[in-house]
Amino acid sequence: MAHTAYPQSYYAASANPAPERPPLAGEVETDVCIVGAGYTGLSTAISLLENGFKVTLVEAAKVGFGASGRNGGQIVNSYSRDIDVIERSVGAQQAKLLGDMAFEGGRIIRERIATYNIQCDLKDGGVFAANTSKHLKHLEAQKKLWERYGHTQLELMDAARIREVVASDSYVGGMLDMSGGHIHPLNLALGEAAAVESLGGVIYEQSPAVRIERGANPVVHTPNGRVKAKFVVIAGNAYLGNLVPELAAKSMPCGTQVITTEPLSEALANTLLPQDYCVEDCNYLLDYYRLSGDKRLIFGGGVVYGARDPANIEAIIRPKMLRAFPQLKDVKIDYAWTGNFLLTLSRLPQVGRLGDNIYYSQGCSGHGVTYTHLAGKILGEALRGQAERFDAFANLPHYPFPGGRLLQVPFSAMGAWYYSLRDKLGF
Ligand SMILES: Cc1cc2nc3c(=O)[nH]c(=O)nc-3n(C[C@H](O)[C@H](O)[C@H](O)COP(=O)(O)OP(=O)(O)OC[C@H]3O[C@@H](n4cnc5c(N)ncnc54)[C@H](O)[C@@H]3O)c2cc1C
Repeated sequence: MAHTAYPQSYYAASANPAPERPPLAGEVETDVCIVGAGYTGLSTAISLLENGFKVTLVEAAKVGFGASGRNGGQIVNSYSRDIDVIERSVGAQQAKLLGDMAFEGGRIIRERIATYNIQCDLKDGGVFAANTSKHLKHLEAQKKLWERYGHTQLELMDAARIREVVASDSYVGGMLDMSGGHIHPLNLALGEAAAVESLGGVIYEQSPAVRIERGANPVVHTPNGRVKAKFVVIAGNAYLGNLVPELAAKSMPCGTQVITTEPLSEALANTLLPQDYCVEDCNYLLDYYRLSGDKRLIFGGGVVYGARDPANIEAIIRPKMLRAFPQLKDVKIDYAWTGNFLLTLSRLPQVGRLGDNIYYSQGCSGHGVTYTHLAGKILGEALRGQAERFDAFANLPHYPFPGGRLLQVPFSAMGAWYYSLRDKLGF
């Protein structure tokens, strides 16, 4: 069987050592079989194992092979659509439950890092940078909204204040969230995988689920083995393909690209981001960046369709980086890679159950580092019979993509064009 390796990213090059995890061969029995070892799968596994379940994960490639090992590393709170949209969609009572949980994912990440001693360069502090006065007004409204749900640690910044934390002339202000922050995302996933194994969970790598037999006792088939389980959790997100057609029909994989500079001098790094906060701007097709543990600038941007080879990625993302930081014009790019996140039409995550015993969470539409950790916890609660918080997510409406799978790519390209125009014209 083909061995699928990590993409050639900065994260793969600086990953902490991890054990070889052989593929599944033969039959095993378990309480819960989880398909996919990204944050959703790993977080669910930890929640279940901490509560006495027997857990088996099957991963098509390697731990953190998907978005969880390739992302910008930004701990961004709340969801890709904000709580006011949720209020309008599901009413105040449901919105209250979801609003209360909007900052929980970041706390779960920090608890896991502390409990399992995960070395992943955790830094506190995340900035939302406003490119226009309209963005700044939106941030003011967002601050008030989040404060209504008890999240009060936010600081609005004017043009002079944001210049103290980001050495760029691109912004008219911003908002600082000290409960945001950043991590080395692959090392977080690898540390969580080690936590799973320390609790007795088993992870099989290079073991794609190729078929799921549904029914009272579901069975997950891989090329050379099968897992008989009481429950299955689908956590394949944008890399799931068509394994579960119901899930494919209502979501769309999208690519976003990241570049990483050579290590910067201490002096240059300290002038760019003196407090070492991470930054994302407020455009729909947003730029996001931060310093790595060894003082490189990791810069991701937009949603670009079809750009796959590293030279192409550098050509697209480097100009965005130089717009924010012209002072980096002579700096070399050491790494460039792409990864997929899963977009839903509402931009809210899709959580639910197929039949009695197959659970899923997918489609956090770009902001998934915190949400996936929360998702793991609420999936764990649901399997233990406490479904109130699970139901709050499950009751959010799910929409199919118009025209189904065939039309998804043109639709997404059209959407990207529309939103980039919206960003450029500021409407
Ligand atoms: C380039 C990039 C930058 C991003 N930056 C940020 C950021 O800075 N902050 C933020 O909050 N969010 C960010 N995101 C989003 C965030 O990374 C994702 O939302 C999150 O990691 C999704 O986690 P997941 O576990 O659901 O999916 P993934 O991490 O994609 O994991 C899914 C796993 O399932 C496996 N799999 C799929 N199908 C099968 C199968 N049939 N059998 C077995 N295994 C299977 C895959 O191999 C994969 O390992 C970014 C995403 C990308 C791509």
